[in-house]
Amino acid sequence: MMGQAQKPMPEILESLEGKEKVVIMGCGGCSTVFHTGGVEEVDIMEEILVKEGKDVKKITLPFAVFACYKPFSSMFIEKHKKDFKNCDAVLMMSCGDGLQTVRQILDEDMDIVKPFYPAINAMGVSGGGPSKFMEKCQACGECVMGRTAGICPLTECAKGLLNGPCGGTRTDGKCEVDPEKDCAWYLIYERLKKIGQYENIDNFNEPHDWSKSVTPRIFEREPLDIHKHLARTKKVIESLGI
Ligand code: SF4
Ligand code: SF4
Repeated sequence: MMGQAQKPMPEILESLEGKEKVVIMGCGGCSTVFHTGGVEEVDIMEEILVKEGKDVKKITLPFAVFACYKPFSSMFIEKHKKDFKNCDAVLMMSCGDGLQTVRQILDEDMDIVKPFYPAINAMGVSGGGPSKFMEKCQACGECVMGRTAGICPLTECAKGLLNGPCGGTRTDGKCEVDPEKDCAWYLIYERLKKIGQYENIDNFNEPHDWSKSVTPRIFEREPLDIHKHLARTKKVIESLGI
């Protein structure tokens, strides 16, 4: 998921200065999990903006409907085409991925060109939950975790070392840069021992191939059969008794 936090309200209000008609759009994916753009947060934002004298139209996406997935978000955008056409600004309560997906649908598919403002600061690929999350991956495009006991050295090590430790590991196994944090390479070493791959610590990881990190990376994939997948999800949810 994309770790995220809402921007401070004064910053959001400043960005909307002079904009009277505002469309707020949330996201049913990561922004719902992080309480930054779910149904409740969009409702609260609507309340605040109405109190500020704005004419607000809101678009809420239910849980698991991602703003960054065009086939999903375009269905909601289509329904609210008039609101988008008439607005002075769009406030996106999703990560930058969602914002740009929605902006692109409007720009390119509907010829509706509006100013967009983010209500969210995205902070990296993170996992965990239900309440504590941690950044876990930098999407380097060349995963080495098969050799590092399932621990990402780029994200966990303060210096992002692909071969470690750096020589500064403290005697208690903490990082020299941040004594509050375990040294990533100490963790890797300990876990390699546990899974019987201790010898891997001597393997040299080649320098990262930065050509794999040139952005924006573009991917071509077969489109999903959304109905088939939603039916599957429904079955699983029912079988879990949720
Ligand atoms: S090595 Fe780390 S940053 Fe690279 S893909 Fe794997 S988890 Fe992500
Ligand atoms: S002490 Fe460990 S985690 Fe910290 S910078 Fe050195 S190798 Fe990386």
